[in-house]
Amino acid sequence: CGIVGYIGNKEAYPVLMNGLKMLEYRGYDSAGVALLNGRLEVIKKMGKVSELENFAISKNVAGNIGIGHTRWATHGEPSDQNAHPHLSMEGIFSVVHNGIIENYAQLKEELENHNFSFRSETDTEVLANLIEYFYGQGKEVTAEMAVQLALTKVVGAYGIAVLCSNEKDKLIVARKGSPLVVGLGNGEYFVASDASPLAAFTGHVVYLNDYDMAIIYKNNFTLKNIANNPVSLTVSNLDMKI
Ligand code: GLU
Repeated sequence: CGIVGYIGNKEAYPVLMNGLKMLEYRGYDSAGVALLNGRLEVIKKMGKVSELENFAISKNVAGNIGIGHTRWATHGEPSDQNAHPHLSMEGIFSVVHNGIIENYAQLKEELENHNFSFRSETDTEVLANLIEYFYGQGKEVTAEMAVQLALTKVVGAYGIAVLCSNEKDKLIVARKGSPLVVGLGNGEYFVASDASPLAAFTGHVVYLNDYDMAIIYKNNFTLKNIANNPVSLTVSNLDMKI
C-alpha cells in the first residue's frame, strides 16, 4: 500500500516513521521498517504506525539506510508475520512491495523445489526469496542483477524497495504498475510511493516509469530498466502545499 525509503547521513528510522504517518491516509492493516546497520533489522507489526513505534522502543533502530511499508493485505491475512518488510530465507534481502505478484504460487513451488522455505503467506516473500535464489547463482551476480532477474520472472504489479545485507551501501527500487518516486537530497535520497512524504525534505523528484529501477547510493544514483538498459532521467519540481 505505502512505501518509504531513505539513504544518507541521517538516522533513517525517524525519516521512515514520519513518511509512514504521511501515508496512513491511504488505509492499511500493518506496518514495518527494515534498517541496515551492520545487519538487517526488521521491525514489523499488525496495527497502526503508532503501535509499531511503541513496539520499536525496545529494538535497535540505528542505521542510515532503511525501508518502510504500510500493508493493505491482498495475499495472506493481516498479521505480524505477513506484514512487510519480508526477509529472504537466509536474511540476505529485505523487501517491501506494493501490488500483487500474480504468478506467486508457481514461483513459490519452484523455489520450494530449490529448498526455499517461507515464513508468511504473502506473494511478496516469494519475490524476496526469488531475488535471493538468483543472488546465489554466482559470485558475479550483484544485488541489482538479482533483482532484475527476479523481476523478469514476475507477472503482476509491483512497486518495491530492496535492501541487501551483503551490499550495505545501496537501496534498490523498481516499479511496474504501482507508483514510486525518488526524492533528491544533498548526499541523501528519499523514496516513497507518492510524493507527499518527500515534500518535507526536497523539492526535486524523479518519478519512475514502468520497468524502471534505481540503484541508489547516498551520493549518486543510477536509473535503468529491468532489462539493464539505461533510462534517461527527468527531474521534476515538487510544488506541494502541505
Ligand atoms: N500483495 C502484498 C501483500 O499482500 C502487498 C499488498 C500491498 O500493496 O500493501 O502483502
